[in-house]
Amino acid sequence: MTTNDTEALLAAANYLPKFDTVEEERLHRKQRLAAAYRLFGKFGFDEGIAGHITARDPERLDHFWVNPFGMNFSHIRVSDLILVNEKGEVVEGDYGVNTAAFVIHSQVHAARPDVIAAAHAHSISGKSWSALGRLLDPITQDVCAFHEDHALFDDYTGVVLDLEEGKRLAHALGEKKAVILRNHGLLTVGHSVDEAAWWFITMERSCQAQLLASAAGDPVLIDPDMAKLTAGQVGSHISGYLSFQPLYEKIVREQPDLLD
Ligand SMILES: [Zn+2]
Repeated sequence: MTTNDTEALLAAANYLPKFDTVEEERLHRKQRLAAAYRLFGKFGFDEGIAGHITARDPERLDHFWVNPFGMNFSHIRVSDLILVNEKGEVVEGDYGVNTAAFVIHSQVHAARPDVIAAAHAHSISGKSWSALGRLLDPITQDVCAFHEDHALFDDYTGVVLDLEEGKRLAHALGEKKAVILRNHGLLTVGHSVDEAAWWFITMERSCQAQLLASAAGDPVLIDPDMAKLTAGQVGSHISGYLSFQPLYEKIVREQPDLLD
């Protein structure tokens, strides 16, 4: 890494919010989470009651915030979010939790202490690509964020309702930022809600891009060395965080009630 790279990373790190109290940090995570749901709704990632984004509580580290069962992504406000404990019990909030959300996300959060947030939805390009049972190829600059940093869960055994299945899924994810769940959809994680949501949004678009390009012809692959270089540029935690900020500003301006 050059001096310039180090300086750029330090400058970017200054963008990361700092908190004086755990309450401030919790509110910040919940605001980002509600905004991420609104964006998922806006982009059409909802499919009935499927899909969930979780944010680890900053104090009770085995608890996470998640959407109320059955509420449309586009209606979710900060005050609607529920807090679920390590047993799957709702300990704050007036709604139930989707069993699949608990089973999948509790195991991902448990296996990956570094992960603050995880996102999963049955978005159309993600699930279409997942049906092919293979990883994404380095065919665009954007998809290089996932170069050597996404995995395939090469199995499908029905709706994930069993903790053992959640564990296997978390094992497939390993230390990576994303996993393609065969015949199901995408799951992404991040060191912030912003990052996990951004990886999901850009991965969904990358699936769409490869489906389109492959339908039209034979996409040219980016050279492995260049894919690796680009991964370092567009695939870092900071890059994921920063990429989400314009979307956050946009959705808060369009739908300010999400902060209620
Ligand atoms: Zn699912």
